[in-house]
Amino acid sequence: MVSTILTGAVYGIGGYLITVEVDMADGLPCIDMVGFLGSEVKESAERVRVAVKNGGYAIPPKRFTVNLSPAGIRKGGSAFDLPIAIGILESMGAVKADKRKEVLVAGELGLDGTVRSIKGILPIVLAAKERGIETCILPEANRKEGECVGGIRIIGVKTLEEAIAVMEGTVKRGRKTGKKLWQDMAPLGETTDFENIIGQPLARRAAEIAAAGFHNLLLTGPPGTGKSMIASAMPGILPPMNEEEMLDTSKVYSVAGLLDEKRYFITRRPFLNPHHTITPQALVGGGVIPRPGAVSLANHGILFLDELPEFKRQTLDMLRQPLENGEITIARKSGNYTYPCDFMLVAAMNPCPCGYYPDLKRCSCTDLEVKRYSGRLSGPLLDRIDLSVGVMRNTYEQVKSFRKEESSGEIRIRVMAARKRQLERNGPGVFNSRITVTNLKEFCTLTREAEMMAEKYYSAMDMSIRGYHRLLRVARTIADLEGSSPIEEKHIMEAASYRGAL
Ligand SMILES: [Zn+2]
Repeated sequence: MVSTILTGAVYGIGGYLITVEVDMADGLPCIDMVGFLGSEVKESAERVRVAVKNGGYAIPPKRFTVNLSPAGIRKGGSAFDLPIAIGILESMGAVKADKRKEVLVAGELGLDGTVRSIKGILPIVLAAKERGIETCILPEANRKEGECVGGIRIIGVKTLEEAIAVMEGTVKRGRKTGKKLWQDMAPLGETTDFENIIGQPLARRAAEIAAAGFHNLLLTGPPGTGKSMIASAMPGILPPMNEEEMLDTSKVYSVAGLLDEKRYFITRRPFLNPHHTITPQALVGGGVIPRPGAVSLANHGILFLDELPEFKRQTLDMLRQPLENGEITIARKSGNYTYPCDFMLVAAMNPCPCGYYPDLKRCSCTDLEVKRYSGRLSGPLLDRIDLSVGVMRNTYEQVKSFRKEESSGEIRIRVMAARKRQLERNGPGVFNSRITVTNLKEFCTLTREAEMMAEKYYSAMDMSIRGYHRLLRVARTIADLEGSSPIEEKHIMEAASYRGAL
C-alpha cells in the first residue's frame, strides 16, 4: 500500500509543506528515494533503515519507493528521517496511523532510533498552521520553539517508538497552545548600560538620536575611549521588540540552527559584533544551500563593525545591498534565497593607523597614511552613515568625578516617545531613517529659518543630494526627540554637526 505522511521544509526563511509517499512493492530489496533531493536527504535512507531495524521492526525484503513532493523544489536537511521511517512502517502494515486529523511530522533520526533536533522548526510550524493542520509531531528538543507559534498542538518526541505511539493514538499528549508561550530571554551578545559610560556627552547624544530614528552611526576616536562600549550599550536604548519583529528575527535564528531548548525565541534586539577577519559569506550569508549571515542575524538589532577600515574592501562592499534594501538575496542554481536584514549599522574606527590623529604629539602617521586609512572606506558605505561623531579622551575632571551617568532606561524613555511620534506620522514601522525621498517633503517641514540654514550648509559643505536628504532625516529625529512638529534652525545645525568627516 501507499502511505502518505506530511512534513515540512524551509526555503529561505519561509516554510512549506512536503508530502512523503512510501510504496512497498516486490522487487530487489532497497529504499529508493526520489523528488529533487539534496545529498543529505539521500543519506536519509540508510539512517532510516538502521533506526527502524534497531526499533525492533523487521523490514521485509521488498522494494520501497519514497517520493517527496512537490518535486519542483530542491529539498535539503535531515527533517525527513522521521516521516520517512513512519511511512515505511505504515506501508508495510506495521503501524496504523490515526488519519482522522492532519498531522505534520518532522525530525532527524539517530541510528538507535532517537529523534534529534532539526533546523527551521519555526517556519515549518507556521506553514502547518497556515494550512490548518492541528498537530505537529516534532523532536522534543524543538518543542518549545514550535510552541511559540501558538494556536497549534505541538507534541515533542524523543524516540521513533514514542512518535509511533502518538501517531497510532495510543498516547495522547500535547495541548493546543494559545499565544505568548515564550518568556523574555537574555540579550544576544555582550551588552552594557549607558550609566557605566563615563563622560562622552557628544557620543551619548549621537547614540540617542541614532536609536530614536534607527540611523546608522559611525564613532571615530583614539583607542581606549570606549567606542565599543558605547556600541554595546545601544541595544539597551532601542525600544523593546514587538511580536512581529521577534518572530521575524527568530525565524532567521531557527533556519540558521541557532535556537535550542534554552533560547528558543529571540525576544531582545540582537547585537552582532563580527571580527574584521569575517568572510563575505559569513557576513551576508552563503553556502551551497545558503545560510543566513551576520547581517540577517542582526535583523531588527545592531550590527557593530569595530575597526571598520580593517575589514576587507570586498567584505564591506557586500553590505551595500543589505543596507539599501533591508534584505539580501543569494542566487543559487537551486533558486534564489532571500533573508531579512533590517539592522542598524554602528561602526567604529581609529582616525589613523596609530589611532591618535589629530593629536600631533602622539600621532606618528604621515598625512598620506591618515588619508589612505579613511580612504579605505568606500563612498557607497559612507553614504549610508547618517551620523558621524568623534569620541574624545575624557578630561581629568570627567574621570575623577565618578559620577553615575544617566542610565539606558532613562534614555530609552525619550527614544520611545520620539519613536511614537515617528510612527504616527510616517506610518507603521517607518522610522525616520527609512523615510522615502517622495515623503521627505511632507514629513520634514522646515521653518523659514531652518530652510535658510539648510541652504547655507548645502552650499558650504558641498553636499550631495543624498547627503542633504540624510541631513533632513537626522534633523527630523532631533525635532522628534524634542517633540517639535516643524524642523527648526537648531535641529538642522545639530544634524549638520554629526556629518563629521563624511
Ligand atoms: Zn596616527
